[in-house]
Amino acid sequence: MESDAHPVESRPLDQLTITVVHDNYPFADGFKTAWGFAVHVAGARRNILFDTGSDGPLLLENLDKLRIDPAGIDALVLSHVHGDHAGGLTGLLQANPRVEVYLPASFPDRIKELVRRAGAGVVEVDGPQPVCENVYTTGVLGRRVQEQALAIRTSRGLIVLTGCAHPGIVPMVDAARHLCGGDPLLVMGGFHLEWTMSAKVERIIAAFRSSGVRYVAPTHCSGEKARLRFEERFGPAFFSVGVGKAVTLADLA
Ligand SMILES: [Zn+2]
Ligand SMILES: [Zn+2]
Repeated sequence: MESDAHPVESRPLDQLTITVVHDNYPFADGFKTAWGFAVHVAGARRNILFDTGSDGPLLLENLDKLRIDPAGIDALVLSHVHGDHAGGLTGLLQANPRVEVYLPASFPDRIKELVRRAGAGVVEVDGPQPVCENVYTTGVLGRRVQEQALAIRTSRGLIVLTGCAHPGIVPMVDAARHLCGGDPLLVMGGFHLEWTMSAKVERIIAAFRSSGVRYVAPTHCSGEKARLRFEERFGPAFFSVGVGKAVTLADLA
């Protein structure tokens, strides 16, 4: 594992491509959808997969269509233990038994063993730590469901990726901000607002605004009503994402 003792001194990334490779929302033609979420991050020192979605074969099929070689993935970060994020793990390990898997330390031993038996590495995450230069896990947040988010330092600002955001999307964004500093350029992933009253969604949008969040890409478990609300409030800074969608720094001008 690479370590980064001086994260603040390293130059932030000036190139990055985040591609949605598994989602229950469609985006581009020719990709299959299924409940769950996974994104591929290219442009940092390591190629990173954040979550695996629920369905390994579907994940691998989508990666193939996107010409992303699963064997080229260096690190897999699993946000939390739920099957719609970790369900594709076995499929990915079959395609890439050398990947390094960052998972919350609270994961069951059975899953850690499954990873080790495949020949892959296990990194048990508790507090914040680098995955590589400019890419950090926030560390595990939440009590009921333990979950980590990914924070990426770019030349245009901080990017935060969330799986389901069970600990709350605002605390997860705040954890990334405190870890990396600077205003969030983009928050993307599951916001977990399916059952949230609209007044609370408005408060979350207000909290995003006061945190300086510029672009939003709520998907997966964000809830259709909340997605529409974010779209109304953020206008052109709202990204409608789904499987097959790629976001680059050039899109975040
Ligand atoms: Zn979940
Ligand atoms: Zn989920």
